Amino acid sequence: MITKLVFASQNKGKINEIKSICKGIQVSDLREIGLSVDIKENGKTFCENAYIKASYVYNKIKMPVFADDSGLEVPALNYAPGIFSARYAGEDASDEQNITKLLNNLINIKNREAQFVCCICLIINGIPYYFTGILKGHIINDKRGTNGFGYDPIFIPQGFDKTLAELSLEEKNRISHRYKALKKMLDFLSKI
Ligand code: IMP
Repeated sequence: MITKLVFASQNKGKINEIKSICKGIQVSDLREIGLSVDIKENGKTFCENAYIKASYVYNKIKMPVFADDSGLEVPALNYAPGIFSARYAGEDASDEQNITKLLNNLINIKNREAQFVCCICLIINGIPYYFTGILKGHIINDKRGTNGFGYDPIFIPQGFDKTLAELSLEEKNRISHRYKALKKMLDFLSKI
């Protein structure tokens, strides 16, 4: 039974979110194990990017490790911004700039469907295992709410009438793509 995992991330928001969900497993982040890395995410899919991060760290520490990669897919835009979600409007683009670009590209487009996707790659004894979570919803024209990050203010999850940025962090974490992927990984770990 695995009781200790390293999370290959330096993103404070994600680390807190993941630690609060992973009860019963001791999760250490890169800072806690004294590793500082600058990993190029040059994969073509969320899962490839998650593997790049997880395998880089695994090769350094040879301990069970996991990493995630996530983003927004809009079918009417050929699934953009996808793996480029963080830098949709340019390399150092702000959330605001990314949202503006997305809304401009959706002008006159009726199909507002969208989904957040998260892929987690877990590596144990050198073998990668993948877990994917999806949150479906649609994009609205104007930003609403101040919680969360990224595209949250323009994304309404299916079955809700509020954007992710209008939900509390606890409410978002109960339905999010990251939470769903993490639950799958925790179920898997409880069975091996
Ligand atoms: P990464 O997984 O940190 O590489 O996230 C990539 C980008 O996808 C983020 O910078 C956001 O723009 C977007 N994204 C991923 N998850 C979320 C979310 O839960 N809400 C809003 N935007 C998100």
